[in-house]
Amino acid sequence: MDRLKKTGMKLTPQRMAIVKHLDGNKSHPSAEDIHKAISPKFPSMSFATVYNTLESLKDNGLIKELTIESGKKRFDPDISDHHHLICTKCRKIVDLPEDISMPQPALASAGMIKGFRILSAQINLYGICPGCSRTDS
Ligand code: ZN
Ligand code: MN
Repeated sequence: MDRLKKTGMKLTPQRMAIVKHLDGNKSHPSAEDIHKAISPKFPSMSFATVYNTLESLKDNGLIKELTIESGKKRFDPDISDHHHLICTKCRKIVDLPEDISMPQPALASAGMIKGFRILSAQINLYGICPGCSRTDS
């Protein structure tokens, strides 16, 4: 929240509701998801307001945009380098547990791949989540 103040973004009640909804949110919601969740409290808030707020938060480095599905941006308040498990059935996105090490991040932490300086790494792993596996039969 302090970082938010430093950006100089105008903290309207609507914007604050979006920020609060994202704080600690692990569901990687889309702009549509966030709009749906907040509209009961702010019925007059347009989708454009939600979308533009998310864009400013992203431009100010307060949230990360996940480009996992083309055409449907999802947002992550966790801006640390981390990886995602994506269920191809229900489209749920969860963070890869931190204790699972990946070969690519090891390369990234080494800093270089053949002269290419790695600045960040985000790996998407696709599969079927436990919930969807159970209904597979
Ligand atoms: Zn699933
Ligand atoms: Mn995440």
